[in-house]
Amino acid sequence: MIGTPVHALKKGSNVSIVVQKYGGTSVADIHRIRSVASRVLKSQKAGHNVVVVVSAMAGETNRLVELAREINLSPPERELDVLVSTGEQVSAALLTLAIRDKGGKAESLMGHQVRIITDSTYAKARIKGIEKDRLLKSLEVGHIAVVAGFQGIDEEGNITTLGRGGSDTTAVALAAVLEAFRCEIYTDVEGVYTADPNIVPEARKLKHISFDEMMEMAGQGAKVMQVRSVEIAKKFNVPFVVRSSFSNEPGTLVDKEGLRMEGAVVSAVTCDANQARIAIYHVQDRPGVAARIFGPLAQANIVVDMIIQNVSAEGLADITFTVPRNDLEAAFGIVEKVSHECGATKVEKSDNIAKVSIIGVGMQYSPGIAAKMFEALSKSGINISMISTSEIKISCAVERKFAELAVRVLHERFGLEKEETG
Ligand code: ADP
Ligand code: ASP
Ligand code: MG
Repeated sequence: MIGTPVHALKKGSNVSIVVQKYGGTSVADIHRIRSVASRVLKSQKAGHNVVVVVSAMAGETNRLVELAREINLSPPERELDVLVSTGEQVSAALLTLAIRDKGGKAESLMGHQVRIITDSTYAKARIKGIEKDRLLKSLEVGHIAVVAGFQGIDEEGNITTLGRGGSDTTAVALAAVLEAFRCEIYTDVEGVYTADPNIVPEARKLKHISFDEMMEMAGQGAKVMQVRSVEIAKKFNVPFVVRSSFSNEPGTLVDKEGLRMEGAVVSAVTCDANQARIAIYHVQDRPGVAARIFGPLAQANIVVDMIIQNVSAEGLADITFTVPRNDLEAAFGIVEKVSHECGATKVEKSDNIAKVSIIGVGMQYSPGIAAKMFEALSKSGINISMISTSEIKISCAVERKFAELAVRVLHERFGLEKEETG
């Protein structure tokens, strides 16, 4: 029997639905795609209704972006989305062929066929709703539904994409809508680590963490999960497992409980090299100026992260802040215009920075953590250009060339390679 037909199950049948997402390296070539097909078929044979979400083959999305940039350095986002969404279409079709080649039943579904409805913010669209009928129909006839990740359509039928790493979001959102019994994120590392294991070989795999910790790590650059996917997982309480498609190791469970590492105040170090900085000099220091500068950025859906303001004696202020590197040109254009209206003498941009953060839920109650961080960086000759803190993280902007060194230094300074005690 191939799977248990959804219609044949009583109420709560969705306990049999498993959503599996395979990232770019997991579908990088035909050999890898065939091995994913075997894994997926194994799950189906174990009695599950399997929905698979695939990313574009490794490097493909970047290749497509570069092609567009050969024509136009800032391509219109609607057309860019039409272009980059094709990467996922290719892998969905190839995986479906591979499953069928092994005797399985499968069909590929694009975002518009499932009906993953998003808003119209091209390149970083937000999911507004997902219809599940088409997917359930596919499962009912015993198919493995292979869904192209990362893509959706807006209410007018335009193709949209969900931001880089967006297939994670497709997977978690589908798991939420289908009330799946399991959501598995297959990638090229064996789980979520105390730091990027490709930067810190001593990094330790975390067995079980909370949505909040994962959200903070993803938000601060641990690209193993797209931050929006974790927001959705938390909102709809969708536990998920991050594991490798190259091994059978159990991976990291992310859920609302998580293990609070009592002994460990700092639980992870992250790095975000996709940040850029804008500095505005000598704006008038009076109420309303910040709102005039940041309002239009918010309207343009640009996320502003670290912000610092220095006030000078003459009633003038310098404001410096960071934005995602992809948004730098758009943000700079907006800011240049409004800043001059606010009397600014100069506006500068730089994309030569990276943000390094330490994360830990217990941090706010432990004095001295920030000092320890700053001292460790300074001992390695790393200059800090901006600092921001929240209840569960401290971030420092550093020169990009020092980012990896900073991560290694902090991982060692906070002893994160050691087994958790709590
Ligand atoms: P996929 O293509 O499967 O979506 P990604 O490249 O988006 O994979 O994410 C996996 C990568 O995330 C890993 O190869 C690793 O370099 C990086 N990464 C960054 N921080 C972490 C972390 N704390 N734990 C695990 N992986 C991390
Ligand atoms: N292919 C897209 C990207 O490279 C989406 C994803 O892989 O999740 O960002
Ligand atoms: Mg990814």
